Order: sequence, then structure tokens, then C-alpha cells
Amino acid sequence: MIRIALAAFAAAPAFVSAAFAETESGDAASPAPLTILVHGGAGAMARGKYTADEEAAFKAELTRALEAGYAVLEGGGAALDAVTAAVVLLEDSPLFNAGKGAVFTREGKNELDASIMDGDTLNAGAVAGVTRVKNPVKLARAVMEKSEHVMLIGDGAQRFAEEQELEFVSPKYFRTEKRWDAYRARLEAEKAAEKEADKAERQGRLAPQYSPPHAEKYGTVGAVALDAEGDLAAATSTGGMMMKRYGRVGDVPIIGAGVYANDASCAVSSTGWGEYFIRLSVAREICAQVEYQGKTVAAAADDVIHNRLENLGGDGGVIVVGPDGAHAMTFNSKGMFRGVMTAGAAPEVAIYGE
Ligand code: ASP
Repeated sequence: MIRIALAAFAAAPAFVSAAFAETESGDAASPAPLTILVHGGAGAMARGKYTADEEAAFKAELTRALEAGYAVLEGGGAALDAVTAAVVLLEDSPLFNAGKGAVFTREGKNELDASIMDGDTLNAGAVAGVTRVKNPVKLARAVMEKSEHVMLIGDGAQRFAEEQELEFVSPKYFRTEKRWDAYRARLEAEKAAEKEADKAERQGRLAPQYSPPHAEKYGTVGAVALDAEGDLAAATSTGGMMMKRYGRVGDVPIIGAGVYANDASCAVSSTGWGEYFIRLSVAREICAQVEYQGKTVAAAADDVIHNRLENLGGDGGVIVVGPDGAHAMTFNSKGMFRGVMTAGAAPEVAIYGE
């Protein structure tokens, strides 16, 4: 669709609220109701896990992200700009596992993945394993818009970031004490389990199985949006899973797994146990069900998360929005930091399951 210059919208804000999406045939259709959803990760956030102050802090950050994205939409901006604004804010927040506050790898580093997709053009950009770029989602967007590629990784991605004059930080910038302590605790627990296993082997008995509470590892961030032109976009950013191995790439930068957007169906941002999201192409699968089976976004998200993902043994969640503004926030984990803001309504944020 042809995008009217931002300045024109700014000069005539009244037009924005009356903006109409066009159907494929070019007829005027119902207005595209401005919509943005964000998530701050799915996982083991059962009621009682956080203090009232902590809950309030999470909710305040989610609300800020919604408002930042919504302000872009309201000003006539593109869904792509709205999701970028929301995700940058969540990357900058130390509370979530993306950008500052990312989880640690097994070697005690922060390695970041991010992606973005434009539902209008199906253009997409992604980066994996970056360690010094302050906002990986901006780099993913630069890959989409300024390179002929879809995904760049590691040093190459960072060289490209230098060329694009993106902001660099010291790797220490991403560290928070909370994540470091969680990492150290996990390391200790694993060492103790290994020792126990060795001892058991020497004594010829079965070692107790050590199963790390994987759901503790989540906290990725993401956003999906529908703009006044009827265009959709999605973006996702993460530090990945705590204790991930060298070179591990999760679902987040995999187009179709951690992110997908197509104006013909929906925009999806995922969070959860990445390996399962990759195997099921979760984001693309939801959009495919909407496009080919005529399902609502809620029904498609329900099937993929509560049937397919769950049957395979994975967990996590998605935020989804369709071209008519229909949306869903679906998860099979205990909770998901999430929120939505639509035309004419106050932002709504939540943490726990029903
Ligand atoms: N999906 C992310 C990954 O596997 C983790 C998360 O959502 O928290 O890298």
C-alpha cells in the first residue's frame, strides 16, 4: 500500500482516525482499527512469584511499550515503526530477557537474537548471536532495509551494524545482577548434579535425574501491530535461553518461528522454548491456518499453542493480530507478560494465566 508521508498525517490528525484500509480490489473497506500488542516473555510466572512492587514494575514497562508503539500508530506511522519503538523500549528495560537484562549463556555471556517482518511486503530481517549492539531489533531492521539478505549472524552482523552506524555498547552493558545470580545458581546446581552423578556411577547406583526448570529461562520481548493503512508488522528480540550452548540460535531470528507478518493473514511474535517453536514453525503455522483454513487468529493460535506445541512437549506463547484488528495473546505456560492497546481504549496488561 502507498504510505502517506508521516508529515501529512501529523498535519491532519483527524484524518488518521478516519483512515480506511483498502481491500485487495481497491474498494474502501472498514477502517483498520489501530492495534498494538506486546509481550515480555512467557514462562513460570505463577501467581505469588513476584511482589506487588515487582508486578507493578513489569506492568509499567509493558504499558510504556504499548504507549510508545501506539503513539507511532496514532501519528499515522507504520506498524513497522510501532513494533520497532515498542521493542526498543523493552530491550532497554533491564526487566526483560532482551537487550539489557538478557540471560547468560553457559559461558557467562550475553548473546542476542532479534527479528522483524513487514506484513505488507513480506520483507524480513534477523540477527543472531550479537554481543555489542545496543538494540538488536534495530540491527534486524537494518538487515531488512539496507542489505540484500534476511539474516546476519555474529561478527558479520556486527560489522554490518558498524557500517550502519548503530549504537554499540560494552558487553557489560547487558548484564544485570539478577540474571547473573540466576546464572551462577544454575551453574552451581548443575555442578552439584554432575558430582552426584559421578558418585552414583562409582557406587554403581542410578543417579537422580537433574531437570533444570527450563520455564524459568524465558523472557523474550516482542510486538505486533496494525496501522491505519491496514498493514501488519511483527518484531521479536531475546537473549535466548539461559545456559544456551555456544552458537545456539533459537526461534526468535527464524522467520516463521519466532516472528511472522503477512497482511493477508496475521502478525505473530513468539516466546517460549525456542527449539519447539522452530520445529513447528509456530508463527507461520498460525498465519497459514488463518490464511488457508479461514480460522480466526484466536482459533489458530489456540490450535498451535494448546494442541501442536503442547503435544510436542514445548511451552510458551504468542501475541497475534489480524488485518481487522482481531487479536490473541495465547500461552500454555503459567504466565506471559503481555498487553494490548487498541483504538479508543486504555492499555491492558497482564502477567498470569486465568
Ligand atoms: N524463544 C526464546 C529462545 O528460545 C526464549 C524466550 O522466548 O524466552 O531463544
